Amino acid sequence: MEHFTGRKVATIDATSIAVAHGLGTRTVPIVNTTMAGAIARALGLSLTDILAALEHLNFTGSNETCAHEAFKQVQSRNVAGEIHQPQKLTAPARAADMFGDNLGGMPKIKTGSWATEKPERRELTPPCNQICPAGNDVRGFIDAVGKQDFDGALQILLETSPLPAVCGRVCPAPCMDGCNRAEFDESVNVREIERAAAEFGTRPEPTRSTRDAAIAVVGSGPAGLSTTYQLAKLGYPVTLIEADEELGGVLRTGIPAYRLPRDVLDEEIDYILRHDVTVHTGCQLKREDMLRLSREYQAVFVATGLQNVSDLDLGEAGSITAPIQGLQFLENVRTGNERLDDQRVIVIGGGNTAMDAARSALRIGAKEVRVVYRRTRSEMPAIFEEIEQAIEEGIILDELVSPVRLSDSENGSLLTCQGMVLGPPDDSGRPRPIADTSPEARFDLPCDLVILALGQSHDISILPEGSVIKEGEALLGLSGAPFYVGGDFATNEGTVSAAIGCGVRAARHIHRTLSGEDLFPTSAEPVATSEVIKFHRFEHQPREAINTLNPATRQCSFDEVHLGFEAGPNGAGAVSEALRCLSCGVCNQCDRCLEYCPEGILRREANDGGYVFDLEYCKGCGVCMTACPRGAIYMTGL
Ligand SMILES: Cc1cc2nc3c(=O)[nH]c(=O)nc-3n(C[C@H](O)[C@H](O)[C@H](O)COP(=O)(O)OP(=O)(O)OC[C@H]3O[C@@H](n4cnc5c(N)ncnc54)[C@H](O)[C@@H]3O)c2cc1C
Ligand code: SF4
Ligand code: SF4
Repeated sequence: MEHFTGRKVATIDATSIAVAHGLGTRTVPIVNTTMAGAIARALGLSLTDILAALEHLNFTGSNETCAHEAFKQVQSRNVAGEIHQPQKLTAPARAADMFGDNLGGMPKIKTGSWATEKPERRELTPPCNQICPAGNDVRGFIDAVGKQDFDGALQILLETSPLPAVCGRVCPAPCMDGCNRAEFDESVNVREIERAAAEFGTRPEPTRSTRDAAIAVVGSGPAGLSTTYQLAKLGYPVTLIEADEELGGVLRTGIPAYRLPRDVLDEEIDYILRHDVTVHTGCQLKREDMLRLSREYQAVFVATGLQNVSDLDLGEAGSITAPIQGLQFLENVRTGNERLDDQRVIVIGGGNTAMDAARSALRIGAKEVRVVYRRTRSEMPAIFEEIEQAIEEGIILDELVSPVRLSDSENGSLLTCQGMVLGPPDDSGRPRPIADTSPEARFDLPCDLVILALGQSHDISILPEGSVIKEGEALLGLSGAPFYVGGDFATNEGTVSAAIGCGVRAARHIHRTLSGEDLFPTSAEPVATSEVIKFHRFEHQPREAINTLNPATRQCSFDEVHLGFEAGPNGAGAVSEALRCLSCGVCNQCDRCLEYCPEGILRREANDGGYVFDLEYCKGCGVCMTACPRGAIYMTGL
């Protein structure tokens, strides 16, 4: 009562009256008409007038009974003393501050005692985070870009991946396939936002080695680079050993510059090396070298990729040039040793190598390029966008076609082909291609060059005899240091992001073996599936437009095809694309819960420290849970 000195105070147990007459429940009582009766009495109004008003508004039956009872039961008294002046309000910084602490105190009745449930905050795993093979905190870096904090976004990316500018260009982006926004309009363009973070963010200063245990990494593709980077960040002196003269693995020797410009790759590799890394290039290691390394270093990591290429017997091709392997062809193009002016080229295969070889052939003068593939386009392992862009550039895709024989003709070579149909699934889960038995299903395609892109496999002859490859387990049979393998060599997952993720795990395994410290996450929160997202609380918005070179220019140039977001300077397009992210399962302080809480019992902590529920006053109605657009609040029993 000390708060009400000098005032007349009237009290009524409105909840009990309302609930006794079936108006709402104990958790959510509906006390409006009960309070009308009580207030009438406290203000000295007539009960008849109040009942007439209620009838006029069609609040009859229990509503009138409650008003009547409240009118009779109100108790009033005058509290002695001086009237306290109310606290002066400060101007609200944001609209939602009208619900903040500075608007006086909470009501004195602790309505929290009515509750049977209470709201709790949670942080679920966004699907994009769960799917990203590199282990990126996708939602986190997108959130930072949305706040125009490109440095922060890059910092988040660099926790897991030293190659965000690379992945922002060549990753097939499974994160986008799993993005919840796809069920609403279009998935968030995560890959492009990642690229923008790498472009507009500033990298922190590299760290120096602080530990004694020296580690050798063999192979400088994305798996080797990622392991090197993670170990160097942990303070280990790392020696990176590579067979080629330059670092990068397939990123340099396979993926053409029109998809991944060399200066972009060089910049990211340079940053990794500045973490105190020693490099030996031009060192093609053999089995005995591996044994030596295991004695010279405290741990060895091998990620030598897929070095064996699959061949195809197309018979004796007489005077015609023999088919060339796709990877060799790409290497020749890269080093400027190949021209195909006015030639007709056939590429056999449906993966990334096939598409890159076909598009490169066009760029070095071929007048016609066909890709023959024995299944259909939807079964092709190549990245979807690459197939689309190849077709835009004029490459002919012959689906359900299998090569049989290469022979000479007066006018160059002839590739005899067999039409196929799809049968039941094979061991790979894809429909098995079966020869079409109709007479017209066999036909010849004239050509001047055939490029084979039929896949690759690992060469385990560099490992100790009898080695069994298991990612994350040190190889047995070596007397020296623990010896781990990873990347495509161990898993054949076939993407840059998977190789990066493999590097993160390899570094943690090695660190745990050497130091005893376990950096693996102990648990993962459940995934925020689309069921927890309140799509009706969001507005539709199309993806930000992307700039690409026009197909005619592309056909004769190795300039980058993809030019990033169209809109505005300084990453404006990336910021507005990032704002499309629903922040699945993670509170991004949108204030919805605060604004919708009918009791005003939520408080935002200073410095964006999140929200606090005042459970002494929370009736457990669950409005905040239904208001939260991203499933970051749930109700739990008391
Ligand atoms: C043409 C092509 C295009 C591709 N396009 C894409 C794409 O767009 N997006 C995508 O995500 N993935 C793509 N991929 C797949 C991706 O490049 C690979 O999955 C990835 O590079 C695997 O990384 P890695 O580090 O395991 O192996 P690699 O990149 O193959 O690196 C292995 C490294 O080990 C070195 N090495 C091998 N043997 C020895 C030895 N004995 N001693 C020393 N060093 C050795 C090699 O020289 C090489 O540098 C493509 C692959 C190809 C072939
Ligand atoms: S690396 Fe690939 S999967 Fe991961 S966030 Fe980037 S684009 Fe998505
Ligand atoms: S909307 Fe955002 S948080 Fe949700 S899956 Fe897509 S990118 Fe991830």
